[in-house]
Amino acid sequence: MIAVKNVNKTFGTNQVLTDVSLEVPKSHVVAIIGPSGAGKSTLIRTINALEPIDNGEIIVDGISIHDKKVDINKARSEIGFVFQSFNLYPFLTALQNVTLAPINVKGLSKGEAEKRGKELLTSLGLGDKFDAYPNRLSGGQQQRVAIARALAMEPRVMLFDEPTSALDPEMVTEVLDAIRKLAEDGMTMVVVTHEMGFAKEICDEIIFMAEGKVVEQASPDKFFSNPNTERARNFLSKVL
Ligand code: ATP
Ligand code: MG
Repeated sequence: MIAVKNVNKTFGTNQVLTDVSLEVPKSHVVAIIGPSGAGKSTLIRTINALEPIDNGEIIVDGISIHDKKVDINKARSEIGFVFQSFNLYPFLTALQNVTLAPINVKGLSKGEAEKRGKELLTSLGLGDKFDAYPNRLSGGQQQRVAIARALAMEPRVMLFDEPTSALDPEMVTEVLDAIRKLAEDGMTMVVVTHEMGFAKEICDEIIFMAEGKVVEQASPDKFFSNPNTERARNFLSKVL
């Protein structure tokens, strides 16, 4: 469903991704973990072309995302992206945040978009928050609105960049539970996370990055119990 092939990326003279390749089959959940500055955010942002790449290829659901001939807005509408910092529109209610793109990009009627938006918000435990503005919601609630907003476009894949790291500890679980539910429903996902317990429990595969390279790619069982490299052992000794 997602294939990253030999991707290189530099910022000026800083080589941030070096020959990165990975595959995420349909309905699989892959966690990307690794130290700060490893290139995790950059990598996940290249998957929906928020960042250009120097060379290589990224294919999502059969579409070569960085091909100049591709309609990137259309391609991107199939890829849900959830950021660390929620990025909700502050002057729109929860429901308006969720219905904006379906109405403007997908051409849904307001009625249709609201019906689906309410279903999504309700399924994420926000049935009583349709009319709330973001500044009246907790961080965990805002992040669930952000997830509903991404899902409202009916994406083929979902990308998460540290979706819980801006949250107070007591709100982490509600967001991870929402992602767990998506995994159970068969959503294809890539999740950059520092939540090792979550990665171990939910993900089909772990990708460990350091210094812009994929250093290890393994099942959670293998990676957490018996990593191959000193680099990964060193990282795990600090985070577990
Ligand atoms: P963290 O765990 O702290 O979020 P990360 O693994 O997500 O780290 P990236 O944000 O991808 O790391 O950054 C990788 C490298 O790319 C870093 O050296 C960073 O300084 C650099 N970098 C990221 N974004 C830009 C940018 N827009 N312009 C220049 N350099 C950048
Ligand atoms: Mg990052």
